[in-house]
Amino acid sequence: MKISRNWPIVIAGCVAGLAVCLATVAPTMSGQAKAKDAVSKDAAPKKIAIRAGRLIDGKSDTPVTNALILIEGDKIVSVTPGASVPAGVEVIDLSKATVLPGFVDVHTHVLLNGDITAEDYDAQLLKQSIPYRAILGARNARIALDHGFTTIRDLETEGAMYADVDVKTAIANGEVPGPRMQVATRAMAPTGMYPLLGYSWELKVPTGVQYVDGVEGARKAVREQSMYGADWIKYYSDRKYHFEADGVLHSMVNFTDEEAKAIVDETHRLGKKVAAHCIGSDGIAAGLRAGVDTIEHGDGLTDALIDEIVKKGAYWVPTITVGAYVAPGRGGNWTKMVDLEKVAFQKSLKKGVKIALGTDAGGFDWKELNQAKEFEYYVEYGMTPMQAIRSGTVVPAELLGWSDKMGSVEAGKWADIVAVSGDPLKDITEVERVKFVMKGGTVYKNDVH
Ligand SMILES: [Zn+2]
Repeated sequence: MKISRNWPIVIAGCVAGLAVCLATVAPTMSGQAKAKDAVSKDAAPKKIAIRAGRLIDGKSDTPVTNALILIEGDKIVSVTPGASVPAGVEVIDLSKATVLPGFVDVHTHVLLNGDITAEDYDAQLLKQSIPYRAILGARNARIALDHGFTTIRDLETEGAMYADVDVKTAIANGEVPGPRMQVATRAMAPTGMYPLLGYSWELKVPTGVQYVDGVEGARKAVREQSMYGADWIKYYSDRKYHFEADGVLHSMVNFTDEEAKAIVDETHRLGKKVAAHCIGSDGIAAGLRAGVDTIEHGDGLTDALIDEIVKKGAYWVPTITVGAYVAPGRGGNWTKMVDLEKVAFQKSLKKGVKIALGTDAGGFDWKELNQAKEFEYYVEYGMTPMQAIRSGTVVPAELLGWSDKMGSVEAGKWADIVAVSGDPLKDITEVERVKFVMKGGTVYKNDVH
């Protein structure tokens, strides 16, 4: 969530100390991942049985006790309460744990490492090469997986061009551990409406998005980003967020309606979907008018806009974690915006908005905060723990168009499974202490004792 400049320098940031950070904070993956990767190259699909003491499958209203999950290769074959393990099948004993579907975060930036201030952001684009940022991106993907996120939608590279496609490909090829990814590549804003800004006109500095102007320019940019591997198109609907006398959070809209509609139309024509960064009410209204599929952030949602989002069937991705994290450092309206979003969240919940879990990880440093904290905010803001878990599993699976493949623990789905020691229905913060991670039948972490 890059914002306009003018924020005071509050922290020196981690940029200067990045080498030190790198050396000390990379999470430890169990050695099993490497071993299993080697096994997965064998011809015959491996069979594994998981004994789940308590299974929250993502679909049922209540947990299933003593379930046996049979896995063959990368898929779940069956889920049966009380079943015994067939002969010759390896058993993973999670009988004392709570087993859940792998988590999904639909708003991340693996190529970014915190941008509380404009200086944090600029330093990454100006002082780090794209190859270096891609290495950190692979590390961040591994952190996400270690925290139980088996799938992410990465919503733009912030000046790192198409490096998200490379991180995604390296993970898909088994070269580095990480979640499944859908990626948005460069994102779009009109000329001059996204950093880097404020440098001498004599300097050619990188830009955090692709500058796109005019209807034909919009269509061409969609085609170009699609050509280089974008699964999603993302654009910045607004900037300059401010409160007016009506108490509503307003903003300046970036694209003309014709341009925004051209982006959405061309993207849909190519069979893809659009995510729009919309913080103020004007930006949200413009995004909905253009027909975007997901509203990102949405702090300024009013009653009328909540009704409109329901009517259009769009998803809302609140990214509360980043807002709460950057507010103290950014000052200004940001604290008020966090409070405003809480009210919008509670109203949206009552009105049946499809809320999908997204954190804006990368907007905060991947090494400082576990993105699973988002679940905690959703419960604090009024969801039941089960609703919060669904917003981070089955709901985003639907948003990604992968409902038939993931999001729940059931026969036919990918074996993307996590486990925690306690009961997240009693204490949602359990999901911030993931002890077991399996993605596509491969175990990446098992600290369950
Ligand atoms: Zn973002």
